[in-house]
Amino acid sequence: MEPDAPTTRLAPSPTGSLHLGHARSFLLTWALARREGWQVQMRLEDLDRARCSPASSRATLETLAWLGIDHDGPVVMQSEHRGPYEAAMRTLAAQQRIFECELSRREIREAALAPHSHAGEIGFAPSLRPPPGSAWSFDRLECSHRFLVSAGPVEFVDELRGQAIFDPSQTCGDFVVWTRDGSPSYQLAVVVDDARFGVTEVVRGDDLLESTARQILLQRALGFPTPRWWHLPLVLDADGERLAKRHGATALDALRGEGATPDRICGLVCWWSGWIADLRPMNVRDLPSVVSPASLRELAARERDVHHRPRVDEECLRWLRSG
Ligand code: GLU
Repeated sequence: MEPDAPTTRLAPSPTGSLHLGHARSFLLTWALARREGWQVQMRLEDLDRARCSPASSRATLETLAWLGIDHDGPVVMQSEHRGPYEAAMRTLAAQQRIFECELSRREIREAALAPHSHAGEIGFAPSLRPPPGSAWSFDRLECSHRFLVSAGPVEFVDELRGQAIFDPSQTCGDFVVWTRDGSPSYQLAVVVDDARFGVTEVVRGDDLLESTARQILLQRALGFPTPRWWHLPLVLDADGERLAKRHGATALDALRGEGATPDRICGLVCWWSGWIADLRPMNVRDLPSVVSPASLRELAARERDVHHRPRVDEECLRWLRSG
């Protein structure tokens, strides 16, 4: 990898089979990077010990390689490098920005800030914080720790959506940075690794847009640079819901077994975006000629209206399988 070159990363969580939504996000990220001359890093977010295994990591990498997505430099496995996460926690502890939290979900829910503000997450109320001077340490690795969120909104520019503003103190409140099974949370791990590996361009699904504000707070506290953000709209299922790993029919492994080819998947991605008029196979190598910052900005502007987001319906699944 060239040092100082603009760098992006593909960061799948190997917790189950990737689906067509992942295929679109990873293909667009890869094509944008190749078009713009960025380095592409592959990072497996495999910290969830219960749901990840060497076999699931291998399968995820194999699926991406099958799609025609290559990368630069060695694959980073988060589970193999825990030292930098612990170092970041010690930095945050020295600044009194983290605290131990052994409260139960019920206790947190009862005091909740805004119980339904954040998909499945309960907003942590400031009244639950420990008194100043107590428990601001990182001595117990097997204990959940939260990050002290300062009041006020966080503003940033998203390269595809423009100005964005979120206020984590009003939504999630003090969020978990270390889990009681002794692992960094997603938020901490992503911030440490993006800084550690010189990631300058974060391209990912817009389900993580709100998380970006939390990640910026952590970057500031740790003295890390803030990368540029590119949040891509997510593909929906036939009912207009977000695709999930449990939607077996859209799993890339299943589709592959039923005859789908990378060229058909790539053709579908281009057709969804209006870059080709008729549904036809497209070589993945041709994708960087149609994907650019401008074409992705157009796509993001159109799909800001959820009614214009692509849907994976039976018809497109049938077309993919007829490869
Ligand atoms: N591993 C995360 C996911 O699969 C992506 C994290 C990121 O891009 O920041 O949703």
